[in-house]
Amino acid sequence: MENIITKKESVAVIGAGYTGLTVGYRLSQEGYAVTVYEKSPLTGGLVAGFDMDGIPLERAYHFLYTTDRDVINLSEEVGVDKDLTFHDSSVSTYYDGTLYPFMTPFDLLKFTPLSLWDRIRTGAVGFYLQKLTNWKPLTKVTAQEWLTKWNGKRATEIIWTPLLKGKFDKYYDKVTMCWLWSRIHVRANSKDSTQEKLGYFKGGFRVLSDALTDRIVQSDGAIYTSSNISEISTEATGKLKVHTDDVSTTKTFDHVVSTTPSHIFGKLTEHHPQMTSDYLQKLSAIDYIGAVVMVFSTEQEISDYYWHNINDDRIPFLVLLSKTSLSGKESTGGRYLYYIGEYVPHDHRYFSMDKNAIMDEWKDGLGKMFDHFDATQIKSEELFTFRNAQHIVDIGYEDKIPSYKTPVKNLYLANFSQIFPDDRGVNYAVKEGEMIAQMILEHKPWPGHDA
Ligand SMILES: Cc1cc2nc3c(=O)[nH]c(=O)nc-3n(C[C@H](O)[C@H](O)[C@H](O)COP(=O)(O)OP(=O)(O)OC[C@H]3O[C@@H](n4cnc5c(N)ncnc54)[C@H](O)[C@@H]3O)c2cc1C
Repeated sequence: MENIITKKESVAVIGAGYTGLTVGYRLSQEGYAVTVYEKSPLTGGLVAGFDMDGIPLERAYHFLYTTDRDVINLSEEVGVDKDLTFHDSSVSTYYDGTLYPFMTPFDLLKFTPLSLWDRIRTGAVGFYLQKLTNWKPLTKVTAQEWLTKWNGKRATEIIWTPLLKGKFDKYYDKVTMCWLWSRIHVRANSKDSTQEKLGYFKGGFRVLSDALTDRIVQSDGAIYTSSNISEISTEATGKLKVHTDDVSTTKTFDHVVSTTPSHIFGKLTEHHPQMTSDYLQKLSAIDYIGAVVMVFSTEQEISDYYWHNINDDRIPFLVLLSKTSLSGKESTGGRYLYYIGEYVPHDHRYFSMDKNAIMDEWKDGLGKMFDHFDATQIKSEELFTFRNAQHIVDIGYEDKIPSYKTPVKNLYLANFSQIFPDDRGVNYAVKEGEMIAQMILEHKPWPGHDA
């Protein structure tokens, strides 16, 4: 009898964030031999965890919307949906020394820094953006210009410009209205009433990333952490070679999926003979901004809102979040747990500053916001920096997006800069990962290579 040998195709995935883990998981379930390479010691990417006072947390604050179906479905599939719970959110805005509730149309009507006409206009603009589905014209105008025209100068200066500056720093007046529309649209459509509910995993998001990692390993896959990929080349056999600093993990594969930021992918492939200058140009055309996040636990309740938008130049950060307010004191070990976040460009002093000095600046900021804030009650504190936290969606962005199939045969690029018009998010990472897995499973001809 003929001996039938089934040979698994091999796939390397570069990056163990949610995009990479989803591709790796899905293809490992389909019988592919999967190897995941992650340069940091942990899996999870931007959602990687750490422990504070024995509580499992994320380095950067994360939640899910009730509409994040792709990640919810994946959680169900790997059996961790029981740990995913949705909680009532509460939002406030800090402006000129006062904290205002900012959840309902009534809150907006009571926001006295704006004239009554500006409040009504802001509500009307918000409602219009929530309902708008034809987003294409918004790609041609910056958020700053569009809002100044339709929401008025004062409302833009008080409500929108501080948020754009906090999120994009020096790029704030480059970002398109389409980006802001997608944020408002997704948020509004995730509410089933005026009460917003946000999801969080008991045990942290690592509950899901660990489940995906375990499934990959159980299917004979390999996950190499602390493994930095420096180059991708193609062998004479047509297989792709993934170069690491360690020769024992430098291997060849039938397919490679890179989930690194675009400019990093450019460095990995710039000398590849199949790479084109057009594609490389797209990779370097997208700017990224970094994020700095402080997490601290304290015996003191500083504020009981979950989310605080900081619309005040005197405060050196964009957002303050109370995890305790969202998921309850029992989930934060009986203490109050807060996150502070700020987005900064790559040349910002925070990337070279002592972490304690940044935390001291931010604690001074908290002291300005809240008279009762007492830094001596802080029990634990950590500060994390992320270099490539958000891409800049500027005018003409859609023409800059690199294709998933790169000019190099069997080499895919999948990162959050290719998600459009939606903004990045864990749900989109999962969706993109599923889509790339499907593309590999379909084995369609490769543009420029197969007839
Ligand atoms: C402050 C902050 C808050 C956020 N909050 C939310 C939220 O509340 N809800 C939400 O849905 N989303 C949120 N996001 C967005 C979310 O984190 C991302 O959309 C998602 O994690 C992207 O996953 P990814 O796998 O595409 O990318 P990443 O998580 O960036 O993964 C890419 C991985 O590639 C690795 N890598 C890079 N170069 C190499 C190399 N040369 N060799 C090997 N590995 C390499 C990186 O180390 C990284 O682990 C937030 C992001 C930030 C920064």
